[in-house]
Amino acid sequence: MTTITQHRPTQPLLPVTGAELMVPLLDGSTTRYVNLDYAASSPALSSVAAHVGEALGLYASVHRGAGYASDISTTAYENARDTVARFVGARPGNPVIFTRNTTDSLNLLASAVPGDTVVLDIEHHANLLPWQEHGRRVLPAGNTIEETLGLLAAELDRAPAALVAVTGASNVTGETLPLRRIADIAHRRGTRLAVDGAQLVPHRRVNMREQGIDYLAFSGHKTYAPFGAGVLVGRRDWLDRAAPYLRGGGAVTTVGTASEVWRTGPSRHEGGSPNVLGVLALARAVDELAQLNTRDWYAHEAQLRGALVAGLLRIPQARIHHIFPDSEAPVGVVSFVLDGVDSRHLALVLAAEYGIGVRDGKFCAHPLLERLQQQGPALRASFGVGSTMEDVTALLEAITAYLEHGP
Ligand code: PLP
Repeated sequence: MTTITQHRPTQPLLPVTGAELMVPLLDGSTTRYVNLDYAASSPALSSVAAHVGEALGLYASVHRGAGYASDISTTAYENARDTVARFVGARPGNPVIFTRNTTDSLNLLASAVPGDTVVLDIEHHANLLPWQEHGRRVLPAGNTIEETLGLLAAELDRAPAALVAVTGASNVTGETLPLRRIADIAHRRGTRLAVDGAQLVPHRRVNMREQGIDYLAFSGHKTYAPFGAGVLVGRRDWLDRAAPYLRGGGAVTTVGTASEVWRTGPSRHEGGSPNVLGVLALARAVDELAQLNTRDWYAHEAQLRGALVAGLLRIPQARIHHIFPDSEAPVGVVSFVLDGVDSRHLALVLAAEYGIGVRDGKFCAHPLLERLQQQGPALRASFGVGSTMEDVTALLEAITAYLEHGP
């Protein structure tokens, strides 16, 4: 195999599950699994896995039981709201609602917004489709962030909207948006700001108050916890007035045969037995992230992204996707194509012959891929706190070998 980079191997920033996973290759050998698909689902932090194991020992239904385990589980579940609220800098009294994932959170929010929502055409489907039946206005983004901010202001001047909903970081390019500036544009026009934080929260410290974010949605399984729990946090008034999102036990105070009294606050939208373990895992994960020194955190990721981008730029056939060339500090998500190469085929070869897991396809962002003039599937490599320079080097070497020798 050709060695094209000699990077100093770095340690993971935090230990994650599956770091030592060995996977079978087509030739019958095994190799360490190189996980470059964090943007789809990140591995859990090792400390989160340990915490889930402990929590299983004291696992009982929350809110309704009188026993010791129910009591402990209820307290832990409710404390998780405070942990998440602190982690995202929520305004005092804003409900932290536990959902299944970002998609669920944005669908819930869409059902609560009293007016139009403006979205950009660069969004993940999770931040496009929920608004379809709720006054969705899709604004084509400009070619730069500056241009896009101007277009957004003009759109809100043209016709007022209740909400602007934007991604914090693109799941295709990793490029980030200047949320404080978008909040200022929206707020000056009486519009609120919702942020799809699915790709931002795992990579950047978010502070809703400081950044002017009115609503924030994110997923546990992309934030170093297992599947099944997500978050919607935001201003209380719309959420308390909205129809309950999941109607069932726990969301009501009294039920008669013909009428009922719905709760306010987070439980209004959390009918049924909640995913206590998922929520405890998510809270533990964000607690760990909260302790990271942001300088180390961002430097780790910037180093990996920089090496990947530099390596791809040395490959003449490689074309890296960008939405906003003026985006500052993109996160660890890079998508690209190689001229003359079928991305699907390359992804399968990377998995079967090199033990490398990337994502191929259109990344649930069809309008964006169209905008990028990407007809077929593209490839995406993404990483996070468990990644090392060796992972990036392995990918670049495998691509180079593929191009030199063919599949
Ligand atoms: N938003 C963005 C930017 C994403 O990348 C994703 C998932 O890839 C989602 C929303 C949806 O997340 P989930 O599948 O956890 O609901």
